Amino acid sequence: MGNNDTLKAVWFRRDFRLHDHTALNHAIEAIEQQSGKWLAFFYLAPETASVEPVHHDYFFQTVMHFKRTLKANDGDLYIITGTIEGALSKLLQAFPEIDAVYANDDRVGDGRLRDEAAEHFLTKQSIPFYTFEDAYLTEPDQVLKKDGTPYKVFTPYYKAWAKERKRTPAVIKRDVLLGSVHKGTAPDREAETLFNNLIKKCSYDWSAIGEEHAIKRLQMFTKKRLSGYKANRDFPSITRTSQLSPYIKTGAVSSRSIYYHILNAEADSYSAETFLKELAWRDFYRMVHFYEPDCKDREIMEGYRELKWSQNQDDLTSWIRGETGFPIVDAGMRQLSKEGWMHNRLRMITASFLTKDLLIDWRLGERYFERMLIDYDPSSNIGGWQWAASVGTDAVPYFRIFNPVTQSKRFDENGTYIRTYIPELNHVPDQYIHEPWKMSEEEQLKYKCRLDEDYPLPIVDHSKQRKKALSFFKGDDEE
Ligand code: FAD
Repeated sequence: MGNNDTLKAVWFRRDFRLHDHTALNHAIEAIEQQSGKWLAFFYLAPETASVEPVHHDYFFQTVMHFKRTLKANDGDLYIITGTIEGALSKLLQAFPEIDAVYANDDRVGDGRLRDEAAEHFLTKQSIPFYTFEDAYLTEPDQVLKKDGTPYKVFTPYYKAWAKERKRTPAVIKRDVLLGSVHKGTAPDREAETLFNNLIKKCSYDWSAIGEEHAIKRLQMFTKKRLSGYKANRDFPSITRTSQLSPYIKTGAVSSRSIYYHILNAEADSYSAETFLKELAWRDFYRMVHFYEPDCKDREIMEGYRELKWSQNQDDLTSWIRGETGFPIVDAGMRQLSKEGWMHNRLRMITASFLTKDLLIDWRLGERYFERMLIDYDPSSNIGGWQWAASVGTDAVPYFRIFNPVTQSKRFDENGTYIRTYIPELNHVPDQYIHEPWKMSEEEQLKYKCRLDEDYPLPIVDHSKQRKKALSFFKGDDEE
C-alpha cells in the first residue's frame, strides 16, 4: 500500500454525477490516505446495447454527457462490454494497477444479479469490491417494524422513515477529485466503438441533460414551484411537480441533495412535507421490491395471483396509441410516446384504465411503461402498477375504480392538458372535451371533429366495465 501507482476503479452505473457520489467519495478518501489515482468506467451490458426503448436513448445520452464532462477534466469514462467476467477481466488486464473496485450498489432486480456475478469474479482475482448504499435516502432493510419485518402499509412506514436521520450530502473536494483522476488508453476499443455507434443512433434532443441541469432544475423547483406543490401537483396542465425523475433515475442529482435542499427551503411546510413524502414512496417501493424480488411478474397479494387478466391485443394497442376514445387517457398515453414522460396523475389514470376498464394484465402495462419512460425505475413502476391494479402492497382497494370522465373534469377542468396532446379535439368546447361522444352530428361538424373518423368513439362503456371489474375481483364467473 501507499503505492503512487495504484488505481481505484469507480464503476458508474446509474449515478452519473461528481457531487455527493458515495462510492467515488470513498475511493477519494482511500487515495488521500494511501495515494494513487482513480479511474471511471461503465459496463455496457450487450443486451442493452440498443437505443430502441426510448429510455435507453435518454440514458445513453446521459452517459455520454458524463463521459464528456470527465474528458473535459482530463479524465475519461471507459466503456467495457461483454460478459461481466470478460469485461472486468479486460479492465484489470489493461490496468494491472487497479487494487479495488468501488460502486454504488443495486439491491434489486437485474442489477443485484450483475453485482453478485461481479463480486464473485473480483474475489477470485483478489480485488476487493466495495459497494455502498447511495441512490436512496434509506437502506431497504433499515426502516422496519418493531418485530424486524417489513411494513406492508405506507403510512406507518412513512412515520418511521421520517424519524430516520438522513445522511447529509458528502462533499468531495473538487481539487482532490480532479487532481487524482486517471487518464490513459481506453481498455476496450471495441466497446468504445459500440458505445459511440449507439450515441450516433440516438435521435432525441433532450435539451437539458446531466448534472448541471439537474441541479438547476432542483434550484428552480425549490424557488418557484415548491410553495403550492401540495395544492397544485395533481393538475397536469400546470407544470408544478419537480420533473426531477429522469435526473434521479440517472443519478444526475443525489437524493440526499434533493432532500436537504427541500428541507432547508423557504417554502410552505405542508408542501415541503408532501414533497418529501414522495421521496419516501420511492424508498418504500424499493423496500417492497427488495423483500418481494419476484414482484415484476407476480402479484404481491397472494389472493390475487390467480386472476384471469385479459390479453386482448386490440384493446392494448388502442391504449398504447392513445385511441381509446377517452380524451384524458389518450392525452396521457400520447404524452408518454412523445416525451417519454408522463405526469403522475396520468400514470394513475392510464394504469387504472388499462387494468379496471380493459381488465388487461397489469404486467403488460408495466412492460410498456418500462419501454417508454425515461425515468423508468423498476421498483417505482412495479409499485405503481400493482397499486393501480389493486394487487400490491397498500394498493388502491379494487372497488375504488377511477372514473376517467370524473378524473378528467376534476384534474383538467378546461381541457388544456387534453388539447396539448390531442389536436383533433382542439376546436371541441369545454362542454364536450371530457366526453366528445356526447356531441351531435352537427356539433361534430361545427367543431371539426367527426367521431369514429377524426377521433375514436369510446372502446368501452365505463359503467359496464366497472361492474365487470368488481365481479372479476370478487371471483364471480361473469362474462
Ligand atoms: P414529483 O412530484 O416532483 O416527485 C419528486 C420525486 O419523488 C419523483 O421524481 C420521484 O422520484 C418520487 N416520487 C414521486 N411520486 C412517487 C411515487 N408515487 N412512487 C415512487 N416515487 C415517487 N416513478 C419513477 O420514478 N419511475 C417509474 O418508472 C414510475 N412508474 C410509475 C408507474 C405508475 C403506474 C405510477 C402510478 C407511478 C409511477 N411512478 C414512477 C411514480 C411517479 O409517477 C413519478 O415518480 C413522478 O410522476 C415523477 O415526476 P416528478 O419528478 O415531477 O415528481
